[in-house]
Amino acid sequence: MTSRPHWLFGDQLGPHFVDPRHGGPDVQAPVVMVEARSVFRRRRFHRAKAHLVLSAMRHRAAELGDRVTYVRAETYREGLEKALGKRRELTVCHPTSRPALEFVRSLDGVEVLPAKGFLVPRKDFAAWAGRTEKPTLRMENFYRWVRTGHDLLMDGENPAGGTWNLDHDNREPPPRGRERLDVEGPWEPREDEIDEEVRRDLDRWEKDGDVSFVGRDGPRRFPATRRQALAALRRFVEYRLTDFGPYEDAMLAADPVMSHSLLSASLNLGLLDPLECVERAEKAWRDGDAPLNSVEGFVRQIAGWREYVWHLYWHFGEDYRERNALKHTTPLPEWFLELDADAVTANCLSTVLAQVRDTGWTHHIPRLMVLGSRALQDGWDPAAVTDWFHRCFVDGYDWVMLPNVVGMSQYADGGRMTTKPYTSGGAYINRMSDLCGPCAYRPTERTGERACPYTAGYWAFLHRHRTALAGNHRMARAVQGLDRLKDLEELLKETSRRGDAAP
Ligand code: FAD
Ligand code: SF4
Repeated sequence: MTSRPHWLFGDQLGPHFVDPRHGGPDVQAPVVMVEARSVFRRRRFHRAKAHLVLSAMRHRAAELGDRVTYVRAETYREGLEKALGKRRELTVCHPTSRPALEFVRSLDGVEVLPAKGFLVPRKDFAAWAGRTEKPTLRMENFYRWVRTGHDLLMDGENPAGGTWNLDHDNREPPPRGRERLDVEGPWEPREDEIDEEVRRDLDRWEKDGDVSFVGRDGPRRFPATRRQALAALRRFVEYRLTDFGPYEDAMLAADPVMSHSLLSASLNLGLLDPLECVERAEKAWRDGDAPLNSVEGFVRQIAGWREYVWHLYWHFGEDYRERNALKHTTPLPEWFLELDADAVTANCLSTVLAQVRDTGWTHHIPRLMVLGSRALQDGWDPAAVTDWFHRCFVDGYDWVMLPNVVGMSQYADGGRMTTKPYTSGGAYINRMSDLCGPCAYRPTERTGERACPYTAGYWAFLHRHRTALAGNHRMARAVQGLDRLKDLEELLKETSRRGDAAP
């Protein structure tokens, strides 16, 4: 009997998605991959993201050789028909989005195998969440449970080093007077003929008016194959992990990557498995090659945050994407949609928007405290903000965007995911970066020509949601601070006068 074909989505590209030892399909099952043009037609993606995904899919097909039928089609349905004809017995690993899961379940003869690329099976999370009281469905509790269950950074039953959380060692501002961290650079790819072919195709599609992209497609910056992803992981663990912890939250204009791993795109394409990433980091600590605060910080990001976000996506349900607790409805302004960094005067926002325009990536603090905070303070529609992040980031997928943007960044779920809205005045950005020095605005000024849009925007946001936020014990003091502002009225007038003009 011939084995049933196994269908690989474009974010299921590592060996664990086709290997029966990892609960994959039958041994050497033929593989089907579908490059569906409709995906790119539906949304205006960053061109570097389209390039990366297509390059990674085509590299994977080249590796699989005769084993794969690689089809270019308008839709997945049409592609499957082209590849399989009338035959419809096939397997597929649990897709990463709700619409894709519904689609594969709607097809006759398709067996959906368990999800891969995450540490915790969905049913185990459901059991954990089910026995947890609502207020304690928090990342920290989940993270400790994952570490214990997977014996990660543990000494017997206790956390390695005697403490679960080394965040207090990992909140350093950038080193004073330095434009860059003193650390080896990240792994960099060399493009090949597959990248050239992808670039030609994207040029043609754009020229034909078939699809339209945003952002610049410079040299590819992220791994497109398993071998490249392993090289990037090795370089990070050997040369960069040591400094990961202390400067995790810091920003430097001339050094956007600092000591971050740049591994999210590889993890989300399925080229790396999270377990191998955290195990290698732990080994570096046990071998004396990296300090515990950096290793714990990295393990927390992957075994904690990434895993937590994946499970919340399913746990919160489909209507989570419509949540809008703060009733924000302002459309995204044109300069933001177009990544027009040159139209922006605020140095932090202009710098970060340029990073997104040029690379489709920036680290978590610019995403949260510069881009997301601007959207929150200006009351932009959270669903449109989610769509923007999804389209513009190389590592953006439905599952990772909904909790991170709707919950963490826009507080649109009213506090189901986080205990308070994440936004701040310019003082935070000033403390954690070198961005304010050359800026035309001053982080301490709320009104007037040099008023910082983050400082003014913060107070305007608190004022707008005063009633809702006064009841939040983590925000109550900040809300009380409004009463001490003598220039609140002037500040509100000035912020509303700006409207959707770039700050
Ligand atoms: P590092 O700082 O080196 O962290 C290591 C790894 O931890 C990352 O590679 C990533 O896999 C994981 N991780 C850490 N935090 C998260 C998180 N909150 N959610 C999921 N994984 C996490 N991450 C994405 O992978 N895709 C996204 O589309 C995405 N959108 C975000 C949007 C907003 C508004 C915010 C606040 C965060 C978002 N993140 C997203 C999380 C985080 O910003 C990125 O994972 C990280 O910046 C990627 O860079 P890195 O690989 O160098 O990460
Ligand atoms: Fe950003 Fe305000 Fe600092 Fe300028 S002063 S860089 S706008 S935080």
